[in-house]
Amino acid sequence: MAKKTVKDINVKGKKVLIRVDFNVPMKDGVITDENRIVEALPTIKYVLENGGRAIVFSHLGRVKDEADKAKNSLAPVAKRLAEHLNQNVNFVPFTRGAELEAAVNALKDGEVLMFENTRFEDLKGKKESNNDPELGKYWASLGDVFVNDAFGTAHRDAASNVGIAANIGSTVAGFLLEKEINFIGGTLENPARPFVAILGGAKVSDKIEVIQNLLKIADKVLIGGGMAFTFFKAMGYEVGKSLLEVDKVELAKELLEQANGKIELGNDVFTGKAFDPETERNVRAIDQIPTDELGLDIGPNTINIFKSYIENAKTVVWNGPLGVFEFPKFAEGTKSVALTIASIKDRATTIIGGGDSAAAVIQFGLSDGFTHISTGGGASLEYLEGKVLPGIACVDDK
Ligand code: ADP
Ligand code: MG
Repeated sequence: MAKKTVKDINVKGKKVLIRVDFNVPMKDGVITDENRIVEALPTIKYVLENGGRAIVFSHLGRVKDEADKAKNSLAPVAKRLAEHLNQNVNFVPFTRGAELEAAVNALKDGEVLMFENTRFEDLKGKKESNNDPELGKYWASLGDVFVNDAFGTAHRDAASNVGIAANIGSTVAGFLLEKEINFIGGTLENPARPFVAILGGAKVSDKIEVIQNLLKIADKVLIGGGMAFTFFKAMGYEVGKSLLEVDKVELAKELLEQANGKIELGNDVFTGKAFDPETERNVRAIDQIPTDELGLDIGPNTINIFKSYIENAKTVVWNGPLGVFEFPKFAEGTKSVALTIASIKDRATTIIGGGDSAAAVIQFGLSDGFTHISTGGGASLEYLEGKVLPGIACVDDK
């Protein structure tokens, strides 16, 4: 279903509530990665350039007690935002009240204010995170229209997304949310084929619904990473000390049956004797993993098998690293797959969803090699599971 975006509404002279995802990593009050601020700029700038009055807000971290408040103030983020926008950002250190309301009413066209961490409202009864109806209504009363651009929290019902949307006339997507809807939602709805899904990461249990959903949609599902060993066990192989979820072996069997040949696991792995970056690396055929070794990466033959599927794909969706890429010795599988996907960028739609997979690709310096790298960890996972995300559902249809 096509969703309205900020381009579909008139923002001139309007008080525009903009929910962004400024949940940036911080250390001692210093922002260590400002990518999320940079990514939010197009939507904020669009509103300002078109004469809107921007009221920007976000959550930051978790707020369980008073001490968390000092740690998780958005003040440093407002400062960086002002520098990026090259204009004043009036930071209001509250989430409600007379001072905030006065600041909102004083806004002129093209001006921007930001208010404090929405999760400060979690201290007295999780009002933000549990979507307290009074809070959504209150925030909605501050604005004329609502732009949701926070994909990272789109899988949660919060006062600052669905709560506001339920109490305001017009809710539209910002450019970042639009991109996620088009690339993840659009691709899953109508993929160019062949569609190859690549799944990795640590555990089957984290990804059951992703596997099930992609098995329905994709033409081939390549599985690597720690989760592969539960499947290998289900196929009757001994996996040594590899990551194994004993209680998921039956499920893996069922998935393999259901998949009817659609799942490809390859036939070898790189192993080590310990979960240690310095451990010696061996190549083992899948039926020859010694009892005292564990699989830490997909093996060279498997890399080639995966490559041959990827090279012919028109759509690739990738979630989860194929090995312990944090150890340079065991990054080869993940890196080779990333390079292969990057090599087909001109002729295929290639998407990464998943926090660690995105981190891996960025670490390899290959982020330009993909059509879309999703900004949401949990949200992209649930989107890939085929779920309706509340933060998207609350946006008006076109
Ligand atoms: P994503 O965040 O992309 O969804 P996950 O969180 O599911 O990915 O998994 C990422 C983690 O999986 C990485 O930290 C990686 O080290 C780990 N991993 C990958 N392969 C293995 C393996 N063979 N054994 C143990 N852990 C693995
Ligand atoms: Mg992860």
